[in-house]
Amino acid sequence: PGEAEGNQNSGGQYSGIESIAAAVARLRTTFDSGITKPYSWRIRQLKALKALLLENTPEIEGALIADLAKNPAEAQLTEIGFVLAEIENTLANLKRWLRPKRVATPLLIAPSSAKTVREPLGVVLVIAPWNYPVQLLLVPVIGALAAGNALVAKPSELAPATSAVFARLFARYFDARAIALVEGGVPETTELLKQRFDHIFYTGNGRVGRIVMQAAVENLTPVTLELGGKSPVYVDDTVDLKTVAHRIAWGKFMNAGQTCVAPDYLLATPAVAAALEPLLVEVIAEFYGADPATSDSYGRIINDSQFERLTGLIEGESVVTGGDSDARTRYLAPTILHDVSRDSAVMAQEIFGPILPIVTVDSLGDALRYINAGDKPLALYVFSDSKAVRRRFITGTSSGALAFGVPAAHLLVQGLPFGGVGASGMGAYHGERSVAVFSHDKAVLSKILKPDTFNLVYPPFTQKKDAF
Ligand code: NAD
Repeated sequence: PGEAEGNQNSGGQYSGIESIAAAVARLRTTFDSGITKPYSWRIRQLKALKALLLENTPEIEGALIADLAKNPAEAQLTEIGFVLAEIENTLANLKRWLRPKRVATPLLIAPSSAKTVREPLGVVLVIAPWNYPVQLLLVPVIGALAAGNALVAKPSELAPATSAVFARLFARYFDARAIALVEGGVPETTELLKQRFDHIFYTGNGRVGRIVMQAAVENLTPVTLELGGKSPVYVDDTVDLKTVAHRIAWGKFMNAGQTCVAPDYLLATPAVAAALEPLLVEVIAEFYGADPATSDSYGRIINDSQFERLTGLIEGESVVTGGDSDARTRYLAPTILHDVSRDSAVMAQEIFGPILPIVTVDSLGDALRYINAGDKPLALYVFSDSKAVRRRFITGTSSGALAFGVPAAHLLVQGLPFGGVGASGMGAYHGERSVAVFSHDKAVLSKILKPDTFNLVYPPFTQKKDAF
């Protein structure tokens, strides 16, 4: 990830390194003028985004087909409809989320009143990846606008069709004084990171996450890092394996496996693995037909370097199903790997493609030890009907999210924080949390001057010690 093959500027309003510093400076002037602060301005921008999506759905769907062969029905669930639901939830609740919250004050300073007041941070930067190029750009943008910030959005150069569509539509729908979109790859992002922002929200891989955090140090800019990693699935023998196979195949092969919360690999005992393998083969045929290459429900790999990396991971492994590929169309079949060694290449990195390695364990304890020996995952999935097993996972593991019975669907719960821990990231968003990420909750205290009930704390202290 991160190579800038598709690194071209396709006419974004502020593309070109020369103008980046000027564009950011202009956004700061806008923010300082106060126009982004009123509730009415925020609502107007959110409604503009809603109109942008509703009035240009076919064009956005077309861009997703061009970039990822993403089926429009899948795009509704995971991209366009997903963002619309986030807008609706924000429109319905923003007034309440922005209301100052009263806080009790101690007797020592009575009479007084205290509250927190949510204020925008200023000018913020949202850097998005290529795999869900609509959702992962726009959901953070919703939070930034709802919180009253000016912003720069930087879509991924590796999804160039989607990037170009938004470059055009942002300028048409949003208040261009406060919202800029910069297209481009490493040079443009590097230049952006030299500017002073009040928050940087980055989604992508950990290598670039480190670059972002390092750049943020200069101006003490807070960061949210939405990163990835290997999200495990554990299956035991207490569950209906046929349903499990459906759920896992859905989460894994959606977007051809290029999903940050996709199940990365499967842990099971040899007996469970043996029972699950033929079921997974059946389900793949049910979802995508005998030849997934001809299914319009199945996506394609984003670019040649990812394609080569993924096909390389299959080499030398024992293939249960799939494994075939076509470099010209970047098709890689839904692939299941049998009894993969723990020190194989496919277990040494985040897969981020349609390959599911099955790693056998001899017990629950073995599975937990294996998971805990690795980086903290973005998501951890468990299929077990045993309460005791579920409890072991809740208390005995750490991950961005833990889901029982279904992968990836926790993103649909707007009240749940979405984010990682440790190597899978820092900070979380969605719903009210998105507004909190891009706001400062300012502490506001007020106390009347007359009568001066505060004289108890003034020096000299000699006779007053006992009063405290
Ligand atoms: P990517 O290559 O599109 O990179 C993301 C962004 O970083 C892009 O905008 C890109 O221009 C920028 N970038 C790349 N190199 C840079 C550099 N040297 N300096 C500054 N900016 C640079 O996407 P990716 O990183 O390949 O995305 C895949 C990764 O993202 C996976 O690890 C996946 O798990 C993770 N991911 C996480 C989430 C989440 O929400 N936590 C969501 C999707 C993807």
